Amino acid sequence: MNELHFELVVLGTGPSGGTVATKIARQDRHVAIIESREFGGTCALRGCNPKKVYTNAGSLVDQVRRATGTLLANTHVEISWTQLQSFKETFTRPVGQKSESPFQDDGIATFHGTAKFIGPSQLIVGDMKLSANRILISTGATPGALAFAGSEHVTYSDDFFELKTIPKKVLFIGGGYISMEFAHVVARCNIETTIVERDSMVLAGFDASLVELLVDYSKRQGIDFRLNRELLSIHPQSDGSLQVTLDNGDTIDVGLVVHGAGRVPNIKDLELDAAGIEYGDEGIAVDSYLRSTSNRNVFATGDCAASGMPQLTPVANEEARIVAKNLFTNTHESMPDYGVVPKVVFTTPAIASIGLSQQDAQEKSARVDVRMEDTSSWGSNRKTGATVSGYKVLIDKDTDQILGAHLLGPAAEETINLFALAMKHGLTAKEMKSTLFAFPTFASDVRQML
Ligand code: FAD
Repeated sequence: MNELHFELVVLGTGPSGGTVATKIARQDRHVAIIESREFGGTCALRGCNPKKVYTNAGSLVDQVRRATGTLLANTHVEISWTQLQSFKETFTRPVGQKSESPFQDDGIATFHGTAKFIGPSQLIVGDMKLSANRILISTGATPGALAFAGSEHVTYSDDFFELKTIPKKVLFIGGGYISMEFAHVVARCNIETTIVERDSMVLAGFDASLVELLVDYSKRQGIDFRLNRELLSIHPQSDGSLQVTLDNGDTIDVGLVVHGAGRVPNIKDLELDAAGIEYGDEGIAVDSYLRSTSNRNVFATGDCAASGMPQLTPVANEEARIVAKNLFTNTHESMPDYGVVPKVVFTTPAIASIGLSQQDAQEKSARVDVRMEDTSSWGSNRKTGATVSGYKVLIDKDTDQILGAHLLGPAAEETINLFALAMKHGLTAKEMKSTLFAFPTFASDVRQML
């Protein structure tokens, strides 16, 4: 077996691994990067970016349909799945083709294959043995295992993006953001769409009253929610369809069952025990500097690190920025400055959230001003034909600090960033309200929320 030594070996070419490898190589250090699939990572190839192409299509259909008889007279629009899929490829194909050479241009040695540890500082990939002074694990997340009969017939989100056609009936397992976003696109293709969720409501972690408004609207778009239900089995039928059985005995025949039941750190195949790296269900155990708690030469970033942060690209980016500073210093280490992390579900309309929930805010203090309103009658929303929108903003009555903001409606995915800016920099509600925003915009509505 050939052996090579590097100052840094990085596992994974997503937003966190790729960024760190490049930054360190530009400090004239000897760096290698290993990727088990196409170079480029989840966000660019199988996550945020292709997803947004699909959700934009659903959103356009929704915009046109809801403008029937008001903004528009003729509202016949349709999504061609085949066309949408090939348009998506114009974004993803170049990533796969062009992601490797920039690493090589920076002098980084690139390896294809699944990396596995064989010692505290040693790995194998294919027929190569690599050792390194520092190792960064940035292997992302993967769909969690499903334990029911016929789970092998489930389609994962990666494969969902590759479908050239879409069957007439689709069922999503789980009511998290992946299911909700995909379901909102699929339903706008006039396809029978079902979401099965074991809890009493979808989108845990988002404001319950706004989620209810979104679910009502989703039902009107044709999405069938089976709440408080578990999926027991999937049986292929002779006509090629899949029969899904739920725990109450209901059966649903569909053409496709999609896994939207959560993602877990992608660390199972790494043989972490061989390197003495501690890990758990939340990922690789790291300290506040993203350094392994048990192997001081190893760091972890992004979705595979148990940093306590959500699995999102901006989090992975921030962790990469910090690890690039910390890798080769034992003193003056930097900690991530996550601030408050905005979360968005790109349904139509989008739902967005930042900071504390109402319950968490009220548990911390009795003096919370809860401002909430159904804003579907506001001019900004009505002008787009929107019929569902609302907000909840939580303000500390003593300090006037904004504790949390929760939005549903047109442009919620953009407007939430204003709250992110205000909350990160400690603007009071009064200061934010005193800012002049361009009018008529959704941003200008923020002043009325404070
Ligand atoms: P990743 O980008 O996952 O990269 C990890 C890389 O490591 C992969 O390329 C993988 O192939 C490789 N790898 C794995 N194991 C090995 C191994 N043993 N050896 C070598 N290489 C290995 N986030 C947002 O912020 N906004 C969104 O709208 C959003 N939408 C999403 C939609 C979907 C459908 C999905 C699946 C994810 C979405 N995300 C979104 C999450 C986002 O993609 C991740 O948070 C982000 O990509 C994490 O970056 P990372 O660097 O940790 O890992």
